[in-house]
Amino acid sequence: MDLLNTLVDKGLRREAPTRDEALAVLATSDDELLDVVAAAGKVRRHWFGRRVKLNYLVNLKSGLCPEDCSYCSQRLGADTGILKYTWLKPQEASEAAAAGLAGGAKRVCLVASGRGPTDRDIDRVSDTVKAIKEQNEDVEVCACLGLLSEGQAERLRGAGVDAYNHNLNTSESTYGAITKTHTYADRVDTVRKAHAAGLSACSGLIAGMGETDADLVDVVFSLRALDADSVPVNFLIPFEGTPLAKEWNLTPQRCLRILAMVRFVCPDVEVRIAGGRELHLRTLQPLALHLANSIFLGDYLTSEGQAGKADLEMIADAGFEVETTEQVTLPEHRRGGGCGSVCGSDAAEACGTEAGAAQAAGAAGTDGTAAGPGTDGTASRPDADGAASGPGAAAAETAVPGARTDLVAVRRRGPGTDLAPNA
Ligand code: SF4
Repeated sequence: MDLLNTLVDKGLRREAPTRDEALAVLATSDDELLDVVAAAGKVRRHWFGRRVKLNYLVNLKSGLCPEDCSYCSQRLGADTGILKYTWLKPQEASEAAAAGLAGGAKRVCLVASGRGPTDRDIDRVSDTVKAIKEQNEDVEVCACLGLLSEGQAERLRGAGVDAYNHNLNTSESTYGAITKTHTYADRVDTVRKAHAAGLSACSGLIAGMGETDADLVDVVFSLRALDADSVPVNFLIPFEGTPLAKEWNLTPQRCLRILAMVRFVCPDVEVRIAGGRELHLRTLQPLALHLANSIFLGDYLTSEGQAGKADLEMIADAGFEVETTEQVTLPEHRRGGGCGSVCGSDAAEACGTEAGAAQAAGAAGTDGTAAGPGTDGTASRPDADGAASGPGAAAAETAVPGARTDLVAVRRRGPGTDLAPNA
């Protein structure tokens, strides 16, 4: 296929495809799918070999967000049955992080729901980073706290944070239909602030929210333009209790095409499969490792992933290897700025947050003053509402064809519970 040969050649040269070429990847047929995966896999192996970087999410503060992101299980007023709790203490967060690191993760993603951090919140996160790095000096730490005010990115960098995640999520033209309480421009501004402060920028998208192919291509080209070091690709988890609960638009094949398109547009950056991996790729997850070079280990912010042991077995069975702390993630030409060689990134995830598509912790507002409920640390924890539990509990009856609500499990272990985390 001429298209694929062209895309491989461009990917090996770090040259962007044309917009039409990116759209053509999304329009390929199921008969062409394995050829698409093989082609994008060549680009992935050229820049990242067969390494898979593992990242581990720690949800520092869960739920009760004042923002209205339609996809998010933590939005204000959402009746999703998720765990709700205020800030973990540094030691609690450090213990959760240690479980992920022991499981093979090299990056810990510290995420808090909310519009954006207060200066007091930056203090809390700084204390948490210190506690984590005292126990694990080689760990990469990514913070995902929402929109940043002036000076906050510099304070995080000074506290030892390596990277900052803030997802663009979707195209500029459709952003207003997803969220009303902040703007696409707000998000771009925070990614730029993080980058300017020397933090490695992590910024990604959520697929499956009803967007068009053009929207997907637009947001990925925007991420390339922002020079993000890592691009988390979330697949929407349509949580019952959110406005997007009926948006079951993805198939495993569609997810693979999206990941391939992201790889061709952002050939030399860390492409991370984020929330919705198990739900939407299902038994095709191993094929996705030929496209992405990074995944989250274990659970997401508010939903449960497959067992960490199953993640590791999948990687080994597919012929890949877990990236070690001695191995630098990014190609040499992308090192030197940002957090330098420590985290192997330099230029621009939600933590890729959530990750869980339905949990990408972004934020709104730029002044950082409108902290959400529970951010003052006074609320007791945990205060899980206990409404739903276990796999499928978030899944009310649905008439949507193909909906796999049986695979949506609200997180009921790890931070905010008395049970050990999944790692
Ligand atoms: S994505 Fe972030 S800012 Fe938006 S509702 Fe969820 S926690 Fe709040």
